[in-house]
Amino acid sequence: MRVANVAGRAAIVDGDLAFDLAEASGCRFGPTPQDVFDHWDEVREWASQIDWPAGSPSPGAALDPALCGPPSPTPRQVLAIGVNYASHAAEANLDLPQAPVVFTKFPSCLAGPTSEIPLPSDNVDWEVELVAVIGRQGTNIPAARAWDFVAGVTVGQDISERVVQTRPPVAQFSLGKSFPAFGTFGPTVVSVDELGDPDDIELRCWLNGELMQKSSTSDLIFTVPELLAYLSSIVTLYPGDILFTGTPSGVGGSQDPPRYLRPGDVLVSEIPDVARMENRCVANQGGVR
Ligand code: ZN
Repeated sequence: MRVANVAGRAAIVDGDLAFDLAEASGCRFGPTPQDVFDHWDEVREWASQIDWPAGSPSPGAALDPALCGPPSPTPRQVLAIGVNYASHAAEANLDLPQAPVVFTKFPSCLAGPTSEIPLPSDNVDWEVELVAVIGRQGTNIPAARAWDFVAGVTVGQDISERVVQTRPPVAQFSLGKSFPAFGTFGPTVVSVDELGDPDDIELRCWLNGELMQKSSTSDLIFTVPELLAYLSSIVTLYPGDILFTGTPSGVGGSQDPPRYLRPGDVLVSEIPDVARMENRCVANQGGVR
């Protein structure tokens, strides 16, 4: 099953078509995107009995990415992992972590797959990532069953203002990564059963047409199941919660010389057959304090 947030309403996506979930289900589910994740198993069971698209109870419309918001727009928690690819640790001259490096992105930074990204400084970087959306509440989730707690995955950008993020004496990852629209993701969340191998998902990022990042989640230091097991041993995970799983090598700060985003830049992020985003950078008058 594929779902999206179309103009604030939950939609089932089939091919290029989007079907409003509340309309198609006779108001049994929806209308909000959060409701999909709150009732993930029931929605999947219901949707599996329909022969999409011809058998849909209500008409669909062309899926327009410009109308799509973040697929889980109101999560209780947005968890994110740093230094989770050996290639990125190497380019950043960091030791491999012994346990996951965890921070949060405040939910106010979440944005959709075509959102503009306002740049508060000349030190804003890109990080393409696999984003997992939680579909079941869980604590102490065993790694062997962890994918059962994931509704689906999509592509995201963990946009980062490197000066605020790394300002001494104590780094401020959560603030440096939470300016408006610093958490774009979507448009579609694809359920785990539609992924060939959920632990080998390819991700790519282009800046103005130039391929900057290309890797697979098979290169993760801590896999998605290992992350869920670790995180849920400490915090309760809830439906709709979002996990940014880390970025591979190829970020701007590791280029020689460093290269950061500029107004007018176009950032394309993709997980093939799952989701593709196109975000344009714009000037932000606010600036960094
Ligand atoms: Zn990141």
